[in-house]
Amino acid sequence: MASLYFHIPFCEKKCLYCDFYSIENLSPMGDFLTALHREIDLCAEFSGRGEFETVFFGGGTPSLLAPLQLEKILSHLHDTFPITRDAEVTVETNPGTVTKEKLSAYRSLGVNRLSIGIQSFHEDELKFLSRIHDSAQAKECVRLAREVGFENVSIDLIYGLPGQTRKRWEQNLRTALHLNPQHISAYGLIVEDGTPLARMVQARLVSPMPADDEAELYECTMNFMEAHGFEHYEVSNYARSGFRSRHNYNYWRHGNYLGFGPSAHSFWSERGEKPRRWCNIANVSHYCRKLKMNELPIVTEEELSCDQLLTERIFLGLRCDGVNLDRLRNDFGDDFRATHSMIIDALLAAQALTFDAQSLRLTSKGYLVCDEICARLIA
Ligand code: SF4
Repeated sequence: MASLYFHIPFCEKKCLYCDFYSIENLSPMGDFLTALHREIDLCAEFSGRGEFETVFFGGGTPSLLAPLQLEKILSHLHDTFPITRDAEVTVETNPGTVTKEKLSAYRSLGVNRLSIGIQSFHEDELKFLSRIHDSAQAKECVRLAREVGFENVSIDLIYGLPGQTRKRWEQNLRTALHLNPQHISAYGLIVEDGTPLARMVQARLVSPMPADDEAELYECTMNFMEAHGFEHYEVSNYARSGFRSRHNYNYWRHGNYLGFGPSAHSFWSERGEKPRRWCNIANVSHYCRKLKMNELPIVTEEELSCDQLLTERIFLGLRCDGVNLDRLRNDFGDDFRATHSMIIDALLAAQALTFDAQSLRLTSKGYLVCDEICARLIA
């Protein structure tokens, strides 16, 4: 399976915590789109290498795209790459940037999944995170998505805000569930270097939530979501049956993907070739300049060794729905169960792991210390 990712590097206003590449100045949008179309042309060589089953517009704020702009990209994609008829096509959506007409146009262009960045339903939390929308707009966005025909809606939430109580977090989860989404991503707030939030923490204007309290909210999330019929299929992701994010799942299963736009990453592994990963420059002007000269805007590129791939396969599998040891043996000749028997037995005994149908999988208890377990098993 292969995927296409598009990074739309514009936001109306940067959020306090965000370290994704995007700029607040929307004026280079025209030049960016010209460059993006050129990048698609320059990557046409991948068109003969199998079908693409997912297309994802992320960012940044892809819902800033006018329907006509999105239509041109999608039509160029269909002319260039073999995309399956039932492809999952997702647009990350900021509730502060959409109208019913825009959502309806997206739907009629073939977008069949919206990933709505809501983060919280409490006004003070939204203000703290410097989101551009309020709680009413967030709810209305989900309602409108339904009204115009979206049957696959995901909601993003953030927990672990400074001073956030369990009660307030549960209210967020409950409000989200009332909106009847098919998928919820719940991320712990991370203080990323270089963000305004990191500077506030450094200046002691806010204190990050203590790790134990954050773990309690994570545990509460897992219990809550599972009690309401959602499958916990990745550290931070929960889905109704049949509604996992096919796009993200492809990343986590080590599938191939091509990334377009500033800061986008790509990964390609094919029989007879060394697996490769590469990354585009995280700067809109440089990105546009490179493509104007008909050059790909790649800044880093590496060939992955067998050991690197094996490590990633274990790491990604553990964070997701398990590491299949038969597949590991087939692909890498590695008898992981035998070489790591002591650690695996200890984790099984501690009920942090399960071993079923040849797959090692984290339990809820294991998810709580996922990074620690990954580090132990990878070491
Ligand atoms: S809208 Fe999304 S991408 Fe833009 S700054 Fe906020 S979190 Fe980051």
